[in-house]
Amino acid sequence: MEVDYEAFRREVTEFAQTRCPPEIRAVVATYRKLSRKIWQPWQQILHAHGWGAPSWPKQFGGTGWDPQQRHIFDEVMAENDCPPQYHHGLRHIGPVIIEFGTPEQQARFLPGILSGEDWWCQGYSEPGAGSDLASLRTAARREGDEYIVDGQKTWTSHAHESDWMYTLVRTSKEAKKQQGITMLLIPLNSPGITIRPIRTIDGWHHVNEVFLDNVRVPVANRIGEEGKGWTYGKFLLERERLGGANVAPALKNLERTRELVAQELAGETHRAKRAALELRLLLAEAELRGALALGKEAVAAVMEGRPLGLLPSVLKLSTSVTHQHVAEVAMDAVGERLAPRFRRIDGSGPNAEAPGIEWVQNYMYMRVRTIYGGSSEVQKNVIAKQLFGS
Ligand SMILES: Cc1cc2nc3c(=O)[nH]c(=O)nc-3n(C[C@H](O)[C@H](O)[C@H](O)COP(=O)(O)OP(=O)(O)OC[C@H]3O[C@@H](n4cnc5c(N)ncnc54)[C@H](O)[C@@H]3O)c2cc1C
Repeated sequence: MEVDYEAFRREVTEFAQTRCPPEIRAVVATYRKLSRKIWQPWQQILHAHGWGAPSWPKQFGGTGWDPQQRHIFDEVMAENDCPPQYHHGLRHIGPVIIEFGTPEQQARFLPGILSGEDWWCQGYSEPGAGSDLASLRTAARREGDEYIVDGQKTWTSHAHESDWMYTLVRTSKEAKKQQGITMLLIPLNSPGITIRPIRTIDGWHHVNEVFLDNVRVPVANRIGEEGKGWTYGKFLLERERLGGANVAPALKNLERTRELVAQELAGETHRAKRAALELRLLLAEAELRGALALGKEAVAAVMEGRPLGLLPSVLKLSTSVTHQHVAEVAMDAVGERLAPRFRRIDGSGPNAEAPGIEWVQNYMYMRVRTIYGGSSEVQKNVIAKQLFGS
């Protein structure tokens, strides 16, 4: 059936504007870090409307939308300050369970992700295994119907507010380090798990260390075959990188920064500085318009079943750097006045005594863009390899 994309855009816009609670949109609009407290009620609203899982097939409770519709949905949500959906369940482990899980696993795990009842985090990185993920050492040995897991994960976003962690562990030592890795789904209330916060320069609590000490995990929680975890993990990481195709949040950020510069540096005294910052925003906009066109190309490629090639890496690389450029402009506009007042707080949000401090906090937070989801250097390696061979 032919989809009327314009009518679809109008429908999604109306929904975003009327159904997303103002207090949730206010959090997004002021760049505060999203937490389960914000995401969960939004997921419940979407789920009740039948839009809980835009990218899942209908038979698993998804919308069955095509890639173009999913892209429009993400774009409209960002344009209206609605939170992007929490990705670890819906976009990461959910599709892996759909693709590689058993019918029992699908029946057990997918409904909780869809309704927002179960919260997931990603336990991949370890000290010494970030970019070089295949060097991971957290070990799992089999004892009857269980694996006994020992090791440490790090940088685990949202582990402190999650129920489950999907993780890669080593079940055997092979000549090739990508072999002998297994994917396990671990309940975070299992005995032997300790979660410790990592304090970051933005003052928010979002990342953690997760220690696993003799943690017993049922074999029934293994995805696919033992030793084949790298295949499932890669399937997931490829999906993670396509997230860069949605340029709308960056454009929204740019628009707001433009308003900030105009307000903060109004008047003749600031004319030269204002002009310099406006020029930097113009250059950032040119980069984002380019990324927008590439994002459209990525969506078209998925629609037509063409391989994505370099696009996910190029998009991740370019938009993450531009996000940082825009945040730097905002910091240059307000930093002199506000940065000295930025102090670490309890992680609940910007310092309420200094209105506008969120620009400083956002600048700090934006440093992560070029690290997580594959650092910029790693993206450049991927691009170079595809262009010039290994
Ligand atoms: C805020 C935040 C949230 C995160 N959330 C999660 C999460 O939820 N789950 C999870 O599993 N992980 C998470 N990560 C971890 C993230 O994936 C890693 O930080 C990332 O893969 C980089 O690994 P690393 O920190 O070990 O740095 P390293 O891999 O040690 O890299 C250090 C530096 O060397 C460069 N480098 C490394 N290898 C190469 C190379 N081959 N060529 C050129 N340069 C190279 C890197 O670009 C970087 O500049 C998160 C990280 C951050 C900062």
